[in-house]
Amino acid sequence: MSKEILHKELVIIGSGPAGLTAAIYAARADLKPLVIHGPQPGGQLTITTEVENYPGFAKGIQGPELMQEFEEQARRFGTEFLVASITKADLGKRPFTIESEDHVIKAETLIIASGASAKWLGIPGEAPAPEGLGGLGVSACATCDGFFFKGKPIVVVGGGDTAMEEATFLTRYASKVTVVHRRGSLRASKIMQEKAQKNEKIEFIWNTDVKEILGTPETGVTGVRLFNNQTNVESTFACEGVFIAIGHKPNTDAFKDWLEMDDVGYLKTAGRSMSTNIPGVFACGDAQDSLYRQAVTAAGTGCMAAIDAERFLDNLPVEMPTGEEITMEGERVMPNHDIVIMPDGEVMPNKGDEGGAPASGD
Ligand SMILES: Cc1cc2nc3c(=O)[nH]c(=O)nc-3n(C[C@H](O)[C@H](O)[C@H](O)COP(=O)(O)OP(=O)(O)OC[C@H]3O[C@@H](n4cnc5c(N)ncnc54)[C@H](O)[C@@H]3O)c2cc1C
Repeated sequence: MSKEILHKELVIIGSGPAGLTAAIYAARADLKPLVIHGPQPGGQLTITTEVENYPGFAKGIQGPELMQEFEEQARRFGTEFLVASITKADLGKRPFTIESEDHVIKAETLIIASGASAKWLGIPGEAPAPEGLGGLGVSACATCDGFFFKGKPIVVVGGGDTAMEEATFLTRYASKVTVVHRRGSLRASKIMQEKAQKNEKIEFIWNTDVKEILGTPETGVTGVRLFNNQTNVESTFACEGVFIAIGHKPNTDAFKDWLEMDDVGYLKTAGRSMSTNIPGVFACGDAQDSLYRQAVTAAGTGCMAAIDAERFLDNLPVEMPTGEEITMEGERVMPNHDIVIMPDGEVMPNKGDEGGAPASGD
């Protein structure tokens, strides 16, 4: 069967907080964006319960409900949606081409808001409720959920920087944090190891795999089943929360031949814009953020990406990771704003009518 072909001015890949915020801004700018839902419509917040730190909801809000509000707001201004996942991209020339199983989509500008997925152990009890205890004591985000564990004993699983950071952060709330690591030493950087090891509230269990998270929907998490891989001894360990901290994987594989990424796969964007290395392709949210990974920061960068895309489609210069600014027609403004290089290579002074160089922000 041949694929349906669509051609759009702006396509947004992903319908989490970043993609839907970009859609709200772009739709209100009359760009008629197309949002591609991907494998998790609404993004990561759809698998959580209470969100207490998204501004504007003084009493908190359930994650799925919050994302429903985002989507309705985006629809209200004319955003279109497509249920599909992008598997292939050709970003070699505009319009860019992206493909799903059933569609070929041409886009004049592209915003990648495909998020990142926490890595999980794949053990019983870990899945989101009601299948498992996810949201009922199992989490992959200390910043998001640490607050719910005041005075409780917690287990953190992992041995890298993520685990040390989460464990250290969780000592603000927990009565005790026990780091369970499958090896005999940590992979985390020296400074992170030292901070965690000096912290009196953190203890370590070495050479041990977590095999199962114990508890029921009524009790929440009550413990973990452990297996010492040196002695082959199994045991149970009581705790009231389990944080899986073995890293995240950005959903950016489809773009790896085109876009600059770090070793893990986080997209690289310019400092003062959400531009990637390809003019007209922007990235926002967790797909380009290994540090903050919050709904509000994802939404903030989604807003930035949409404004960048609007500027680009208006043929205004947008800052690139190299520091130069580029327009849709290929004019390049050098970082010091003194000269413009035209698409045919001609070099022109970048002087306004009154002789001053129009710096951005003027
Ligand atoms: C359990 C849990 C609880 C959390 N709690 C909080 C909290 O309380 N407060 C907070 O601020 N943050 C919380 N977070 C973090 C927050 O959810 C993320 O920071 C935020 O969702 C990132 O938004 P995003 O739009 O960048 O990506 P995501 O929300 O990850 O959305 C990515 C979108 O891209 C789509 N996609 C992926 N691959 C493709 C593809 N190939 N083609 C098309 N589409 C694709 C997905 O389907 C999805 O729609 C939590 C995260 C988790 C996992």
